[in-house]
Amino acid sequence: MDARRCISYLTIELRGTIPEDLRNGMGAHVFGCDICQDVCPWNRRAPYTDAADFLPRSLPTAAGRDAAGDSLLLPKLTRLAAMTEAEFREAFHGSPVKRAKWRGLVRNACIALGNAGASLEQEARGESMHLLEQLSASAEAVIAESARWALSRIQAIE
Ligand code: SF4
Repeated sequence: MDARRCISYLTIELRGTIPEDLRNGMGAHVFGCDICQDVCPWNRRAPYTDAADFLPRSLPTAAGRDAAGDSLLLPKLTRLAAMTEAEFREAFHGSPVKRAKWRGLVRNACIALGNAGASLEQEARGESMHLLEQLSASAEAVIAESARWALSRIQAIE
């Protein structure tokens, strides 16, 4: 196995841009993957937990924002991609998600948006394109590049 192709490595550990030929295979993963944990026979006996530390968090709700989109259980990709660095720090205080860093999580959300483009409804696609246009001008080079890539993918199916 080439660990450099692992989605968990790409979305959590890798700093900078993600190689273009690996982006499609990331699908909608924005932080890790762990399908190998799901299918590992040793994990079949592992008990489920309801420990609070393992329950999904919610993103801090900003005024005027749709609270329904703020759960971190299957979060909206646009919500993740639009997070500010301050929101990221607040939302993921004490969480392993901080390992990816703010710019890494936004980068991943951009790529996931690019991959999801064809399956998005017209309205969601328009919202995504608008956001990606804004992120394409980000001062963070890795975010700007990922947003431009995602935008070009969505534009290609328009
Ligand atoms: S299944 Fe496991 S090894 Fe494969 S990409 Fe996902 S996390 Fe990496």
